[in-house]
Amino acid sequence: MAKVAKVTKVTKVAKILPKKWTEEEDNFIKENYLRMDKKALARNFGVTLKSIEGKIRRMKPKKPKLTEKRTEKSEKKERLLIHQNVRCRTCFLIDGYTEVEENCRYCGAKLFKIDVI
Ligand SMILES: [Zn+2]
Repeated sequence: MAKVAKVTKVTKVAKILPKKWTEEEDNFIKENYLRMDKKALARNFGVTLKSIEGKIRRMKPKKPKLTEKRTEKSEKKERLLIHQNVRCRTCFLIDGYTEVEENCRYCGAKLFKIDVI
């Protein structure tokens, strides 16, 4: 009798405990949550819809758009800071100029992009 009671107890506890996910199950969800219905996934693993939704939320990459924006911005900044060596047609001095600079640093003459060395 005592043995039976013990088994029942264990089963009850097991039902309350959250599911332990294996790496294979994690990978399956990662690969399929975009094309598979969440309800179907929940049914497939014998968990609640909420459990699946929480799992998917944790799997999604964190704010990828923000990172993209930041990269784009810094790239623009870098482009402005790129120095190209230009030889002035008037004083023949060579120096590094950014894209926004149009005049020679030494004599003030207009620089020509064709003169980039
Ligand atoms: Zn010059």
